[in-house]
Amino acid sequence: MQRIFNFSPGPAMLPTEVLEQAQTELLNWNGTGMSVMEHSHRGKEFVELLEKAEADLRELLAIPVNYQILFLAGGASAQFSMAPLNLLGKKNTADYIQTGQWSEKAIAEAKRYGKIRIAACSEKQDKVRIPAPDAWSLNSDAAYVHYTPNETIDGVEFHWTPQTGGVPLVADMSSTLLSRPIDINAYGLIYAGAQKNIGPAGLTLVIIRNDLLGEPLPQTPVLYDYRVHVKNKSSYNTPATYSCYLAGLVFAWLKRQGGLTAMAKRNQAKAEKLYRFIDQSDFYQNPVHPECRSWMNVPFSLADSQLDEKFLALAEQAGLANLKGHRLVGGMRASIYNAMPPEGVDALIDFMKDFAEHQG
Ligand SMILES: *Cc1c(COP(=O)(O)O)cnc(C)c1O
Repeated sequence: MQRIFNFSPGPAMLPTEVLEQAQTELLNWNGTGMSVMEHSHRGKEFVELLEKAEADLRELLAIPVNYQILFLAGGASAQFSMAPLNLLGKKNTADYIQTGQWSEKAIAEAKRYGKIRIAACSEKQDKVRIPAPDAWSLNSDAAYVHYTPNETIDGVEFHWTPQTGGVPLVADMSSTLLSRPIDINAYGLIYAGAQKNIGPAGLTLVIIRNDLLGEPLPQTPVLYDYRVHVKNKSSYNTPATYSCYLAGLVFAWLKRQGGLTAMAKRNQAKAEKLYRFIDQSDFYQNPVHPECRSWMNVPFSLADSQLDEKFLALAEQAGLANLKGHRLVGGMRASIYNAMPPEGVDALIDFMKDFAEHQG
């Protein structure tokens, strides 16, 4: 059986080399005579695995020593509450940038804990567009500013880093972390569910600057207190050990690819090729303004939505899976994370060309 090109937004495709290595090591990991899944999270082998994964991630993203890295559970959705619970503090107010479906979810959750202001909101005239920084109304007294660098559902991505005048910047990087280099120093807190661009589901990465490890709100459950996880090196309770292991293999794979500068070049080239094809076609359409189109998630629609089902069925037959758009948006979406090889994008473009010629 041949591997297909899986365009799912998450859980998403993983590098074949990583899966092969996991397969080889499944029954006997590290010469221990058992699977990594069967090891204690407090045992020497697993502790070393986590330290190595952390060191590789630190190297890949150039994370300075004054930031902690946490391997948590609960998905990015748990961070929608964990961030405000830990960071709102006495100020009890934060600014949120609303650019799509995921930031809206983050806002709805944060509102349970404090006074949340919408400091800027995406515009939709002809195409969806992130508002320019001079149109943002930031509160210098906010505990933090939250934004979503890549809106997975809407296909909207920031290609610049917001300036917040010293107010800590919080980012939900679920579908963009590790797709390109970033300047960690610009951020107070970064979180990301692993199942998009990092590894399998079950793991959530958190990168937090030391000065933000303050007193959480009094109602905060112990598992939602960042300080507890820092103190216990992500093992206050049992972490998602197998997901941590696979993420570690992905970090090592990324280093072998040449790190994030090389990945950025590859990701940008893949995305630009696909957008270029969509833009020159009369049959396909992307709803996002060119300056904020995502490198990772490319939504598109067909000129005739009656052909959607046929498009998906024929794509599936051609080994191009999970191109159906989000149920709230409709149409199609191609998610092309790190693990999607350039050949996958080429195969998609060939298929789309052929479909438009024969069915459109
Ligand atoms: C997928 C996603 C989420 C939700 O992640 P879970 O791990 O399912 O909680 C949140 N934010 C963004 C940007 C996402 O892509």
